[in-house]
Amino acid sequence: MGQREKSLTQIAGVRGFKVIATRWESAEGTVYVPVAGFDVPPGKHFVLQLGRRWSARCAKCLAIGGKLHEQLGLRRWRDLPWSTHPVTIEYAPQRVKCHRCGTNGVELLAWADAYQRQTRRLQQHVALDAFSMPLLHVATKYALEWHTVRRAELAAIERWEGTRAKPTLTQIGIDEKWLGRRHKNEHKFVTIVSDLVTGEPVWWGYGRDEATVAKWLATITDDEKAQIKLCASDMHRPFHNAIRADTKLAHIPYVHDPFHVIKRAGEALSELRRSIFFRAGEEMRALGRGTRWLVLRAWENSSVDQQAKLRELFALNGKLARAYQVVEELRMALRAPDRASIVAALNHVLFRTEKRANVPMRKLHDSIRSHFEEIVALGEHRPPTGRIEALNNSWESLVRRARGYRDHEYLFRKLRFITANPVRTEDGTRRFLALGVPPPYALAS
Ligand SMILES: [Zn+2]
Repeated sequence: MGQREKSLTQIAGVRGFKVIATRWESAEGTVYVPVAGFDVPPGKHFVLQLGRRWSARCAKCLAIGGKLHEQLGLRRWRDLPWSTHPVTIEYAPQRVKCHRCGTNGVELLAWADAYQRQTRRLQQHVALDAFSMPLLHVATKYALEWHTVRRAELAAIERWEGTRAKPTLTQIGIDEKWLGRRHKNEHKFVTIVSDLVTGEPVWWGYGRDEATVAKWLATITDDEKAQIKLCASDMHRPFHNAIRADTKLAHIPYVHDPFHVIKRAGEALSELRRSIFFRAGEEMRALGRGTRWLVLRAWENSSVDQQAKLRELFALNGKLARAYQVVEELRMALRAPDRASIVAALNHVLFRTEKRANVPMRKLHDSIRSHFEEIVALGEHRPPTGRIEALNNSWESLVRRARGYRDHEYLFRKLRFITANPVRTEDGTRRFLALGVPPPYALAS
């Protein structure tokens, strides 16, 4: 090996293989011969042709020195770029007959997984970038097609999933998500089951009825069900019914998370605001315009200006003022530390929303009444329901960022990745990228 090949082999860094030749190619794949005295223009592909240094290894059991079964043709893998040049690895793999496990598989390739067209390290980098960058940027940065970026990202995320132990579910959350307008799927919703302790989604399925949850329940064993101590969901009845219908889970505490209870209250408040300001003539309409988010925000989270504006609105309409106050009371109630205090606080809210004349608030009243036990259970068990809200936010930003996802499996995988966020720290990021580095073959013989 000459000095040039030696350096290139060191840089390429794929154990057991060496660079035997290089060439330049244009983006279309034709050979490009650099003009003497001129630089190679950016964007030209650098092709590294690899050869084996050691005997072939079985990709399945890592045994060294299988018998040649079949010589395959040249294959190419995209690798991490080198300065302004995309890099391609070229190699003609062999199919080897393993003396240990007896398979006739393609030999172990240090840089890529089977059936992949990119190196592992490129896939990890693509996934890391796609975590915080729009698809357009990632695709342009690595000179890859959009769908290639998606697939590479998925492969990297799958690799990461493979390193994780299956969690023991002790507290679960069930939530429904709207898939958005832009798709032709017969289902408009998906149901997502998540681990409340870590906040990570663990299962998803189309639809949002009892049958959907039953499908998930069919995937877990009785032992796993015995570990589940609590279930939290929004106020969607079928979820509750599905859990209660399962003999192993019928007895576990079932709570409604405060995020969804407050959301329901907010809907009532919004409706009331509309009926007051928008069906009451031009003058009132002008006053009510742009106040939707104002009345939905908690008083303590409103700025001084917002509070002043709210006071103005309330001075105009006592009904709205009282309704806002009731929602504030409900917010407080949901924070109650034990059963007795949450029951007392909820009863007070029920008392104040009882009047049939105030239709939106009465609807809220009926809704709280019919879910009373599950809301009270909240005060009793205090599960980490903030996770559901966080998951909800991740979902919304994911769907918003990627208008019209058609591949829902991808969407779910990505949601899990974003929630678990393995690249939150420097160490975690390094570990994630290291998944692209070929592992030392300690197990080999
Ligand atoms: Zn083998």
